Amino acid sequence: MRTMRSLVLMVVLATPTALAGQGALQSPEEYLGYARGERFTDHAGVVGYMEHVAEAAPAVAVLRRYGATEEGRPLVRLVVARADRMAELEAVLERNRRLADPSLSEVEARRIASSNPAVVYLSYGVHGSESSSSEAAMWTAWDLVRGAEEVAGVLDSVIVVLDPALNPDGRDRYVSFYRRARGVEPNPSPESREHFEPWPGGRYNHYLFDLNRDWSWLTQRETRARLATWAMWMPQVHVDFHEMGYTSTYFFFPPATPVNPIFPSHTMDWSEHFGRANAAAFDEQGWEYFTRQSFDLFYPGYGDSWPSLLGGIGMTYEQAGGGRAGLVIERPDGLSLTLAERSLHHWVAGESTIRAAAVAKTRLLESFARFHREVDQGLPAGYLIAPDAAPDRAEALVALLQDQGVTVEESGRAFRSDATPHPGYGQRSDFPSGTFLVRTRQPRGRLAAALLQPEALLEASYSYDISAWSLPYAYGVEAHAVERVPDGAWAQASRRHRVFAPEATAGAGRAASTPAEEPYGYLVPPGLRAWRGLVPFLAGDGRALVMEEPFTMAGRDWPAGTIFLPRHGNEGLSSRVAAAGLADRATPVATGLVPDGNDLGTRDRIALELPRVAVLTGDNVSPTSYGAHWFFLERTLGLPFDAVPLGHVGPETLEGYDVVVAPAMWGRGNGEATDALKDWVERGGTLVAVDGAARSLGSAIAGITVRERADDGEELARALRSREQREEERWREDVPGTILPVSLDPANPLAFGFGANGMTSRSFVLHAGGQAFEPEEGYESVAFFPEGLSKISGVISQENLELLSRSTWLATKRVRRGRVILFADDPLFRHLWYAAFQAYANAVLIGPAM
Ligand SMILES: [Zn+2]
Repeated sequence: MRTMRSLVLMVVLATPTALAGQGALQSPEEYLGYARGERFTDHAGVVGYMEHVAEAAPAVAVLRRYGATEEGRPLVRLVVARADRMAELEAVLERNRRLADPSLSEVEARRIASSNPAVVYLSYGVHGSESSSSEAAMWTAWDLVRGAEEVAGVLDSVIVVLDPALNPDGRDRYVSFYRRARGVEPNPSPESREHFEPWPGGRYNHYLFDLNRDWSWLTQRETRARLATWAMWMPQVHVDFHEMGYTSTYFFFPPATPVNPIFPSHTMDWSEHFGRANAAAFDEQGWEYFTRQSFDLFYPGYGDSWPSLLGGIGMTYEQAGGGRAGLVIERPDGLSLTLAERSLHHWVAGESTIRAAAVAKTRLLESFARFHREVDQGLPAGYLIAPDAAPDRAEALVALLQDQGVTVEESGRAFRSDATPHPGYGQRSDFPSGTFLVRTRQPRGRLAAALLQPEALLEASYSYDISAWSLPYAYGVEAHAVERVPDGAWAQASRRHRVFAPEATAGAGRAASTPAEEPYGYLVPPGLRAWRGLVPFLAGDGRALVMEEPFTMAGRDWPAGTIFLPRHGNEGLSSRVAAAGLADRATPVATGLVPDGNDLGTRDRIALELPRVAVLTGDNVSPTSYGAHWFFLERTLGLPFDAVPLGHVGPETLEGYDVVVAPAMWGRGNGEATDALKDWVERGGTLVAVDGAARSLGSAIAGITVRERADDGEELARALRSREQREEERWREDVPGTILPVSLDPANPLAFGFGANGMTSRSFVLHAGGQAFEPEEGYESVAFFPEGLSKISGVISQENLELLSRSTWLATKRVRRGRVILFADDPLFRHLWYAAFQAYANAVLIGPAM
């Protein structure tokens, strides 16, 4: 059985005989020159050790680089397998992948399960300041390769893939901070500086995204690289190692409720198997732990839920510690917690998980195959995505699904179907050629359903995260469920690309053949890709006008918000249009005379100029909100901006900016910045503020207030309620991220192109917190929650629906010579809600010209 490992310092034995002749395999301590937990190892050190292992034991360990972070650090996986399996690794993995084929027979699955190893995939450090797990990864690698007693024989049954650091940029941000902050000896006092990470902290990646929320939305480079090659491994077990508050103990699965009902019983049965194994290992050492509390399995974008939607057993393990803990910290209970101890716990939990997989590997593989044989059980046969009213949005959604490895098909002809529309979208039975189909009977069918179904049926009273995310609402495209796949001459859809993906703009700038004669101008319908192209067009001093009214021309209807690019004032227009990547979206017109609607030379149009933009950042700004604005402006829209520290904003700072963006903030912000912003707005600036910043700045600068909960004498009664009553009440009052419809003012330029599915007066938003603006005559309600509001998807109480009815989600007001534009939620949250990107881009690009 396991031998007790000293918490403070391990005496390391020499390389055992099993590896004699394979070069000098060193322990992490020997290689790094310090004991585990004595110092933090930076990313280069972690990767260096993994390289050493692969070099010292090439027959059983191979290091594969699968990408690089935004800051250029390598992303690596160490694969450890028995030598004979390593020699034919591709064939072993190919058989493993066959288990995920829903058409594989049970007999064949059994045959593979009996001979093939299971794949155990261990992911460390997705949150960079939860630093102990990457230290543990090195020791687990060492044990596996040297054949330590704790993992003896496991390689007969499993292949282990170790990703020692999912977020190297965040890890190094934390480690370099800690090294700077500590003294000669680490200080255990929780009040000392080394226990307070400076903004933005090491939890996040370069763009300050929480990578443990990104598995389903696939926006960040690290996630995209990891998932691009995930299919190669198709693990049966995945562990995502984390840390939580330093006063806690250790958490492993089974998870807390709510568990997304889309998971079959398989997922929970196995999480109990692994939970028992970990409990036994921790009991033996006398360590404290808990299960079934705090960490649920509901939101699909975590490192536990996402792999589970692919039939693996995805689990989160949480060690007490985190960015607060440093090398050692005193706890209120008098114990002190060390990095040595934290990393030891992750080391032990990782190895007990590997053992538990090894002892049950045949059953595990059979169960994995059954998950895939039954992948569509209880689900509709498929989902239709109708592209006719919102082709750009439909393509963007298809691109995300394809990035997710979901197979999407496209109909070759029009067809009829008795499909069931997602709530809020209209019933129809005729679908056009080009309609998309996502079948649930495919290896990633359950994942597709989790993302596309309208409601995730939340039964429990509390969720750790948002309660709704259904993509047909996020993208504002009409979707339908079908019980039978209609005959639509289906063929696999060609590959689409996300707006921010390098491939999406690969064609831009290509020299287009300039027509002999320039047309009178081009028309471009509104949409995110149009904005993406307009930015370089405007940067090159192009002239662009936004048409304020809908019209009909050149045989089609053009909505309000259509962009007119005239020949007049645009020398070499066609080449400019091509260079901006707009060639496939721009329709040439031969005249300015509009048969139905305002002529193109009307005064009812808005002349665009590229704005000079500042985004507030730093202390008191939410790192993830700032990160979302940073990523969106830089990568999705391609619009340059200055990141201005909030603490630096004063009377002179904002001179010369057309737009200031205030991401979500904590607290009330600072008074000097608010005064400076107010003065700047009054002199002609456009302030775009979201979430908490919209509430505090909207009130201070424009007098736009948040609707208050009616005080009906309930407060006193509430104060006297029992704990249980309060708990229940808190749930009902929470709006944890819920999909709600909004009504739009179609004539307001901020609403151009924002409507769902081509509608101009209606869209959907993801709302959290239950706070929106009280409408007043003095400002414009561009988007508001309609009277008799009812939810589309997720959790919300009747009281909150009533409170939010007829309150404003997107408000704008002129303030002297300037303007404020306020979003009740952050429209860029996690870079998820594609439809709202349009309203935000409108605010930044049209706002200053309104
Ligand atoms: Zn974490």
